Amino acid sequence: MTNATYPHLLAPLDLGFTTLRNRVIMGSMHTGLEDRFYHYPKLAAYFRERAKGGVGLIVTGGISPNRQGWLLPFGGTVSNVLDVMNHRCVTDAVHEEGGKIVMQILHAGRYGYQPFVVSASAIKSPISKFKPRELDEKGIEHTIRDYARCAKLARQAGYDGVEIMGSEGYLLNQFLCARTNQRTDQWGGPIENRMRLPVEVVKAVRAAVGEQFIIMYRHSLLDLVEGGNTWEDVVAVAKALEAAGVNIINTGIGWHEARVPTIVTSVPRAAFRSLAGRLRKEVSIPVVASNRINTPDVAEDILASGDADMVSMARPFLADPEFVNKAAEGRADEINTCIACNQACLDHTFANQRASCLVNPRAGHETELVYVKTARARRIAVVGAGPAGLSAATVAAERGHEVTLFDASDRIGGQFNYAMRIPGKEEFAETVRYFGKRIEVTGVKLVLKHKVTREELLREGFDEVIVATGIVPRHPAIEGIAHPKVLSYLDVLKNNAPVGRRVAVVGAGGIGFDVSEFLLHDPQVPLPEPLEHWTAEWGVDLKGGANGGLCEPAVEKPVREIYLLQRKASRLGATLGKTTGWVHRATLQHKGVKMIGGVTYDRIDDQGLHITVNGEPRVLEVDNIVICAGQDSLKELMPAEPGKGGPQFHLIGGAALAAELDAKRAIREGAELAARL
Ligand code: FAD
Ligand code: NAP
Ligand code: SF4
Repeated sequence: MTNATYPHLLAPLDLGFTTLRNRVIMGSMHTGLEDRFYHYPKLAAYFRERAKGGVGLIVTGGISPNRQGWLLPFGGTVSNVLDVMNHRCVTDAVHEEGGKIVMQILHAGRYGYQPFVVSASAIKSPISKFKPRELDEKGIEHTIRDYARCAKLARQAGYDGVEIMGSEGYLLNQFLCARTNQRTDQWGGPIENRMRLPVEVVKAVRAAVGEQFIIMYRHSLLDLVEGGNTWEDVVAVAKALEAAGVNIINTGIGWHEARVPTIVTSVPRAAFRSLAGRLRKEVSIPVVASNRINTPDVAEDILASGDADMVSMARPFLADPEFVNKAAEGRADEINTCIACNQACLDHTFANQRASCLVNPRAGHETELVYVKTARARRIAVVGAGPAGLSAATVAAERGHEVTLFDASDRIGGQFNYAMRIPGKEEFAETVRYFGKRIEVTGVKLVLKHKVTREELLREGFDEVIVATGIVPRHPAIEGIAHPKVLSYLDVLKNNAPVGRRVAVVGAGGIGFDVSEFLLHDPQVPLPEPLEHWTAEWGVDLKGGANGGLCEPAVEKPVREIYLLQRKASRLGATLGKTTGWVHRATLQHKGVKMIGGVTYDRIDDQGLHITVNGEPRVLEVDNIVICAGQDSLKELMPAEPGKGGPQFHLIGGAALAAELDAKRAIREGAELAARL
């Protein structure tokens, strides 16, 4: 039966020898669980939930075909029959839930963070300290055989196919592009030679696994690096891959070393769909659209318009394993949407931590953070409907407790209501929408515009009180801080205080960066069409010209002159996320924001902000000084001592600890506490 709302998304796909139950692929993500055999039961539980949630085809994190291909020392490898055993629990779990799963074969090439790295040519990547060794003819032949052996073992392990990783700048992509392939033998030079390795790999894999096994190839449509391929090259490679035996072409955008963001929250949704659409006209096998697709409506639109045969979403399945079932059951408004923040997924991966999700702390912890029905329902008050309180209240109610959630404000969301006002962070509104729906579904009693007092909490006879009252902005002791030029970030983002043309921002943490970005635009002037604006600002040619689609950026003139300041002498933005911080820094640099570290704040007066830098006094003659100097906990509701006989008090989120607070910690603490009560 076809689904009335998402007829294309939920339509099966017949590949001839096997049928996928819908058009949704859960794209490959490294969770950190695939590298050690003793983590495989956890990995199986993680995939089981996603298969149960209805996704059509799952792709595992990258598995290397040999030691040279390791991303990290001792990374997940499938190179002998002993490796097969580990994977059985994963494939069984997915098949028991009616899903299908392919194993991604990823040879990191020069992106490997280990000493055995190899590549097409001995050219070091800017993001790894290890210089690769150039593969010789014999080495190339070995590598091809290793791919084939790896795929054959994947079939023995019960996988439905393999995805060969050929994009994002990994080994096969390194052979494909002149940037990294400067060989003069039959594996380098013109595109016919540069594509020889990917094509030979596919042929060898096909010969090893037979016809009844999915081979998906992840192909780079836009390299976004100098020396990247042209669109004509991209098409020629896709045709050759099809002829070599690929069943599905998945798509990738941008090398990891590219200086253009491709998946962070400020990249417009489905920004690269048109490229998949153009490739689809050139080949006769299914083509998959990917990157920044995070809702079923966007996915349906891509398929309905003919831009792709399937859509790949990766992070959205960390955020919500039930994405597909919810869409199919008319409950799309219950989907916990990925806000593309990278804070608990990619930032963890790059820090060698297990991947999880800011909006769903169960991701990657399915066997450890479990929400079981309570046998002893209690009356729980949650004070504060910011991320911490929302998470605690909804998990406690889901478990069967009777929960009342209070907030002094007229809306839920706490500080997320200010985060979502920052240009490029509009996705944060989705989390507030999700929790709003969750409150309804779980039966939390919501009381807004109600500033709670401790007396009231004691009087009302609650069994448990969760204090999630968040923070108050810090007012630093600078001489003249009471001057009318001085504003707090809340004056700007909450109260829409007028701000002059020249501004100093005191404090360069996440909020200082965000406020600077906010002030670069005039909120009265609507932003131009997001995709056009974004491609112009970052210098991206979606037609894919020379240099992998890079072109000259055309940056919009900022409406203000901004100084962003901190006392530390270190680089500004050092505390921002590993995979997103560079984007924030680059955005402000493009717009001429002057970033100054090592500042001493001397005083504020009619002239402006007086500072000393490197022993030199300076005056920043600004109209306003916006204070973003961190925050202090607001926990006045907590009793000084644990009371006898009254409710049990708990403290979470910013109210518990303002230092190094972020929404990831706030939501996780709320969920963990509610899971224990
Ligand atoms: P809060 O969000 O502060 O919520 C506390 C709530 O308690 C408020 O709604 C308040 O009204 C209510 N309250 C207080 N006292 C009472 C009372 N007595 N009675 C009733 N209600 C009360 N974090 C990230 O992880 N990533 C980001 O990209 C990010 N961007 C941000 C951008 C901006 C501009 C801002 C301001 C913050 C950003 N943050 C970000 C920080 C993140 O929003 C906070 O870490 C998070 O909101 C803290 O959650 P919380 O629930 O502890 O507190
Ligand atoms: P923060 O990251 O702790 O930054 C506070 C800034 O204020 C620092 O630059 C600090 O630098 C300065 N500062 C601290 N005390 C000061 C004082 N007494 N006088 C003058 N300057 C002072 O906090 P935040 O920017 O308020 O952000 C709060 C939380 O929200 C952060 O932990 C962050 O993780 C989260 N957030 C994240 C993002 C994101 O993009 N991931 C965006 C926004 C917010 P010096 O001490 O060097 O001066
Ligand atoms: Fe998406 Fe952020 Fe969760 Fe990663 S941590 S899956 S980007 S919401």
